[in-house]
Amino acid sequence: MKYYFFSVLTQLLLFLGLIKSILITPHDDIYFMKRALQEAQAAYDKSEIPIGAVIVADNQIIARAHNLTQTLNDVTAHAEMQAITAAANFLGGKYLHKCTLYVTIEPCQMCAGALFWSQIPTIVYGASDSQRGCIAMKTKLHPKTKISGGVLAKEAAGLLQQFFIEKRNLN
Ligand SMILES: [Zn+2]
Repeated sequence: MKYYFFSVLTQLLLFLGLIKSILITPHDDIYFMKRALQEAQAAYDKSEIPIGAVIVADNQIIARAHNLTQTLNDVTAHAEMQAITAAANFLGGKYLHKCTLYVTIEPCQMCAGALFWSQIPTIVYGASDSQRGCIAMKTKLHPKTKISGGVLAKEAAGLLQQFFIEKRNLN
């Protein structure tokens, strides 16, 4: 009886451990880039150039945004710019220390400049922008910022291509 009790107890503890590990397993780059792609799709649905971004802190999305330059008649309304503002509002401070930005396309010079001021430590992008991307244009990022790309790049670039093909066909 005693042994039975312990074996049930052990199994229960193992089960709880499993549940705990499922609950606290951090999401990965793919998971967050998918959320950024959902934002890009939202932009697409509004006939905006489909670029989306999310900002993550402590494994949670604290800001999500998509390009709204047409809607707002504002060349600064890139997804990243809005995500930076939203994240700072959420945190109640201007610096995005301990945050990661996920953006579907490599940030431009303007956004890289804003990200510099935010002191964000990590930027992950999807597809490269060999024309206007901050890497191609050699824009300086904050010395504390690490940048990497290529996460779901095909999906991000595909959405952008599809958008421009559709635009061309409409004209
Ligand atoms: Zn930009």
